[in-house]
Formats: sequence, C-alpha cells, structure tokens
Amino acid sequence: MKQAYDIIIVGGGMAGASLAIALSGHDLRIALVEAAPLKVDAVPNYDDRGIALAQGSQRIFSALNVWKDMADSAEPIRHIHVSEQGGFGFTHLDAGEEQVAALGHVITARNLGTALLNRLNKLDDIHIIAPGRVQWVNIEDDLAHIGLDGKTLSARLLVAADGGNSFVRQQLCFDVRRREYGQSAITANVTPGRPHKNTAYERFTRNGPMALLPMTEQRCALVWTVKDDMVGEMLSLDDAAFLARMQRQFGWRLGRFLRAGKRNSYPLSQLYVPDTVKHRAVVIGNAAHTLHPVAGQGFNLGIRDVAALAEVVLQGIQSGEDPGDIAVLQRYQDWRRKDQQKVVQLTDTLVRSFSNDMLPLRLARNIGVLALEGLAPARHVIARAAMGLQGRLPRLSRGLPL
Ligand SMILES: Cc1cc2nc3c(=O)[nH]c(=O)nc-3n(C[C@H](O)[C@H](O)[C@H](O)COP(=O)(O)OP(=O)(O)OC[C@H]3O[C@@H](n4cnc5c(N)ncnc54)[C@H](O)[C@@H]3O)c2cc1C
Repeated sequence: MKQAYDIIIVGGGMAGASLAIALSGHDLRIALVEAAPLKVDAVPNYDDRGIALAQGSQRIFSALNVWKDMADSAEPIRHIHVSEQGGFGFTHLDAGEEQVAALGHVITARNLGTALLNRLNKLDDIHIIAPGRVQWVNIEDDLAHIGLDGKTLSARLLVAADGGNSFVRQQLCFDVRRREYGQSAITANVTPGRPHKNTAYERFTRNGPMALLPMTEQRCALVWTVKDDMVGEMLSLDDAAFLARMQRQFGWRLGRFLRAGKRNSYPLSQLYVPDTVKHRAVVIGNAAHTLHPVAGQGFNLGIRDVAALAEVVLQGIQSGEDPGDIAVLQRYQDWRRKDQQKVVQLTDTLVRSFSNDMLPLRLARNIGVLALEGLAPARHVIARAAMGLQGRLPRLSRGLPL
C-alpha cells in the first residue's frame, strides 16, 4: 500500500505536534507519524517536568491560537535570580525593567502536550498515524519514502522530529556532534513555605545547577542537575530526606520546603546537528539539538525552528517551489544557523564553566555575575535573548499569522 503527501512529520512530541499545527490550513496533505498512541499519557515526553516557555514561544503559541488552552495552567515568570552556592555574586532579570508583563511562563510538559494534542485532533488536514514506528527511510530525487507496518508513505518533504535518538536522522546519515556531561537532571514539583512571587531561581551548586521555577498553586518546578553516580541515591531518599538535601543546596530564600511530588531522572548530554537539511529532509527539535536544561532553552530553540520552517516552506509553496527542494530548505538552515549555534554554545559554556570548582574560576564567575548586576544594558541583552526575541524573528514570533 502506498500513500503520497506533501509533508510527512515523524514524531508527535512538542516539536512535531507544533509544526503540524503551524502547517495546517494551507491546503497541504500532511501526515504525522508517532510511535506511541497520540494521547498525552502515552507520548513519552508529555510528563510532569516544568517547561519554562520564553515570551517569544508564548507569542508563537498565541499566533497558532493554542495559547488560550495553555494559559490557565501556565504561571508567569516575572523575575529571574541567578546565584552561586557559597559565592558572593548574584544577578537578576526583571519583567518590569524589560517593560513586558512576563519574561516567560512555566507549564508542565503534560499540560502543554494536552493543548497541542487537543488541537491536532481537531485538524482535518493532518492525517495522524499513531501508533506507528518508522522502520525504514529512503530518499529519491523526487520523493522521500518511509516504511512502517508494511505500508510505504511518500512525500515531497520528510521532517524528522523523532527526538534525541532520531531513527530518521541516523538513517539519513546526518553529521552529529555530541558531548557527554556525566550529569543527570532530577525533577520534582515541590511546595515551598514562602510564596515564590513569580521568581525563577537558578542556583549553581558544587554538584551542578539547580533551577526552581514558579508554578501554579504556589508550587515550584525543580530541575536539579547531579552527577550520574548520585542519581540512584537521590531517587531512593524518602521525601523528608530529599527536601532536607535540597534545602542545604538551595538555602532559605523560599522558606522551608514542605512537600515534594514524584521524582524523575533524565541523563543529560548535548547533541548538535550542524547541518539540519538535505534534499527532501530536515531534522528539527531534539533530533537536531538536544541541550542540557540549565538555561531552559531546548524547546524554546525548537519552537523558533518550527516557526521559521513553516514560514519558509509555505512561502516556497506559494511561489510555486517544491517544499523538499534543497534550495528551499537551505534558506531555512541559513536563517536558523546563527541562533542554533549561539544557544548550543552558550548552554554548553554555562554547564562547563559552572561545573568547575577551581578557586580562580569561582572568583572570576562571582565577579562576572556581580559586574552584570551593575550593568543594566548587558542584562537587557541577556533578557531579550532569554525571551527568544533576538535576531530575525519569524512571523509567528511577531504574533503574525502564516
Ligand atoms: C529535565 C528537563 C527539563 C527541560 N526543561 C526545559 C525548559 O524549561 N524549557 C525548554 O524550552 N526546554 C526544556 N527541556 C527540553 C524539552 O523537554 C525538549 O526540547 C522537548 O521535549 C523536545 O521535544 P521533541 O518533540 O523535539 O522530541 P521528543 O519529545 O523526544 O519527541 C519525539 C517523538 O518521536 C517519537 N518517535 C521516536 N522514534 C520514532 C519512530 N521511529 N517513528 C515514529 N515516531 C518516533 C517518540 O515517540 C516521541 O514522541 C527540558 C528537558 C529536560 C530533560
């Protein structure tokens, strides 16, 4: 059995689902293939981790008309406070100084996924094939083909949004750069004794960075990076012992930590595909760049890619071009390369420089962040970047429809 589409998207995680929504309504034949049943409890990464969505990402979801289904479960970030355990330096970013209502929002991946999947299920022009695992890939000059469950699907453009271990990326031999950190993230939603006042805390500790992000119902989303060999112990502690350990690392800014929800762990590494396009194929989301969560930029970078790719592809089609033509896809890559490189490098530099405990480096870090605190223009540049509002912005990031 053979079926033909304009675009096939492999992966129904945050990146693939967002792209399908962005491309819908333009008279295209689109297929979305997901290995798991397309339900929020079944798709692996729609879990309880807190996702810090930058302001630019919120604008994209608003332009796609899905933000209204996320807003009630999203908590605004109005302040960001960065400090180092045992150090004297600290700095902050503030929504008021940036003249915006919020620097970003925190929402669980589950609530984000619920809004995306509810929308997807209402779109008539997206053919959802789930559960369906891609088993082979073949690119010919005029079409890309994938095989699953005895079927062959073909399209002018194949989008690999199938995550960090992307099968499609491997089959198409994209060049990949990797870095192992020997670290894992422990996540839990915790309740502090004092109100979080919409402040996101990033604290660099000897064991690794710890982020506490403001959530609804006065909870905070904890993302705590630890060395891999500490994971077993961190997951096996009872709640009281875990909270006490956390309190020692974080301090008392939020009072006594009272409750902790379910803990999860994620091994962390960096993966970066320098060239994300080939004739008839493009890799996006974690398949193109998997980042350490230290700065909460992984999906924020991915959704900017989604917005730019949808714009380039739709513009190409409107001017009579083939969406899988390398000339069209190269325009997308040229546009996105700088942002991708910058965010990947910045995240890596942050992880590595704050993982080093040598005294001169610690001193330099503390002087650096303290100097930043006194430099409002420098903080403004950092705030714009953290909000995803720097460089050439896609139409969706400017609140404009495609
Ligand atoms: C602890 C932690 C905290 C984070 N916090 C933030 C944050 O605050 N802000 C932020 O922006 N980002 C954050 N991130 C990053 C964010 O979670 C990821 O960027 C995002 O989940 C990636 O989505 P994706 O759709 O690209 O990939 P995935 O979620 O991996 O989706 C890929 C999908 O493809 C499917 N699939 C795989 N193989 C096949 C196949 N052969 N056939 C069909 N389907 C297939 C899978 O089932 C999966 O559903 C965090 C990450 C972690 C680990």
